[in-house]
Amino acid sequence: MTEARDTNAPVGTARVRRLKQALRSVGLRSTTARLAVLDYFHTRAGAHAHAEVVEALARRAFDRATVYRVLLVLSDAKLLRGTIHADRIRRFELAHPDETSAARDAELVCSSCGATSTLVGARLLLEDEAAAPRALLRREYALRVVIRCDACG
Ligand SMILES: [Zn+2]
Repeated sequence: MTEARDTNAPVGTARVRRLKQALRSVGLRSTTARLAVLDYFHTRAGAHAHAEVVEALARRAFDRATVYRVLLVLSDAKLLRGTIHADRIRRFELAHPDETSAARDAELVCSSCGATSTLVGARLLLEDEAAAPRALLRREYALRVVIRCDACG
């Protein structure tokens, strides 16, 4: 099999350039395996298990360990995120491009004394976006978290 017949290969220089730019933006070198795995997620919606990625990239001759290592590297770099669902299988998906900037300040309210304070850099993570009100998906919300403050213990 020649590289030219490899239907799993990222096609188009603009697409490859974007993938390389994404890797560079998080300080990662572009390797063939990283580009292939990142391209896999850019061309498919949703979350995918390690085994699915291995199977899809089988013709590229990346072994299971290489693919798994790449998944972890891309997750550490926040390009992907790993989630574990009810079946206990870890799946990976593209981290939303704006997710890392979605952190915002939350208002903390003590349920005992009513004292308020600000928590800098809180983030709302939706496990099921389909069930969420649209305003949340548009990032139109404020966070107010009810706690017992340290003084009230
Ligand atoms: Zn309090």
